[in-house]
Amino acid sequence: MKIEGIELRRIAMPLVAPFRTSFGTETARDVLLVRAVTPDAEGWGECVAMDLPLYSPEYADGAADVLRRFLIPALPKNDADAYAVERALEPFKGHRMAKAALQTAVLDAQLRAAGQPLARYLGADRDRVPCGVSVGIMDSVPELLDAVHGYLDEGYVRIKLKIEPGWDVEPVRAVRERFGDDLLLQVDANAAYTLVDAPRLARLDAFDLLLIEQPLADDDMVQHAELARRLRTPICLDESIESAAGAAAALTIGAASIINIKPGRVGGYLEAKRIHDLCRAHGVAVWCGGMLETGIGRAANIALAALPGFTLPGDTSASHRYFAEDVTPPFELDDGHLDVPDGPGIGVEPVQDRLRAFTTATEWITL
Ligand SMILES: [Mg+2]
Repeated sequence: MKIEGIELRRIAMPLVAPFRTSFGTETARDVLLVRAVTPDAEGWGECVAMDLPLYSPEYADGAADVLRRFLIPALPKNDADAYAVERALEPFKGHRMAKAALQTAVLDAQLRAAGQPLARYLGADRDRVPCGVSVGIMDSVPELLDAVHGYLDEGYVRIKLKIEPGWDVEPVRAVRERFGDDLLLQVDANAAYTLVDAPRLARLDAFDLLLIEQPLADDDMVQHAELARRLRTPICLDESIESAAGAAAALTIGAASIINIKPGRVGGYLEAKRIHDLCRAHGVAVWCGGMLETGIGRAANIALAALPGFTLPGDTSASHRYFAEDVTPPFELDDGHLDVPDGPGIGVEPVQDRLRAFTTATEWITL
């Protein structure tokens, strides 16, 4: 496959409500989209880097810069496919979210040209996936209970509460008491604690959580292993896992017993699949996280979440959880599930007039 050029496109998408985590509050999504143009097909990739480097070191302007300056010029001129792109980008350190967006755009074009859905390419065995929802930090417990009630009414099968010091045991207790022992419930600290908080985190053991996600800093792998020995609640890593090698290390030292796979964080769907395969071989459950994706990124994540090792519900929520209007036809919940797109590639395309309306900048780079 020959790549003729790459378009970088920035879109601004207002969120339906502010989303607060331990690292900040988001009110809008500034998204970098990548479009790969080949003679036979076009492909789309969504860069999940946020506008500020708070979740990880990457940020949207930085991703656009490294793409135009280094990654796009390094693309293979001919015989390009997702693996060739991965090899060509490998010498450049880090920048996994930028690499993932570019690799996904090429993979999407490759699969559209071949008429093959991404889910089938990856080895998925399901046509729908169960959906959880991530609930941000609120100003009060009653406000939180109302929000959780609303999501359960919509059909979400699992609730994840964002926590931070000062917003942990009490909100979890309130949700467990109000909605009962059968509710699938987990928490995500986004690296907000240190090991000295272990006694407080151990108080969460009383609430029978599915997991606690990324309690400590992303580079605190050894301390996560120590924390795991002090908690009954399983530890799941998110920010700490940037590759299959990192996942192997985490499992080896007991730093995690569950892994949240985000393709953007690990450099793309090929590496995400490797982490899935590694975990499945070890009998370790995985699930698919979210980065407030538009329908473009969401479609690809749903394909990944349909793989057999994704045994826990993901954060692959419906479009209107985040956006009043999506750039693609909206993903809608059906009995707590989303259908896996079955069209070629990622299986969805932007609605052109909406895409135009959200666009703040475009840039074309000829190869
Ligand atoms: Mg997380």
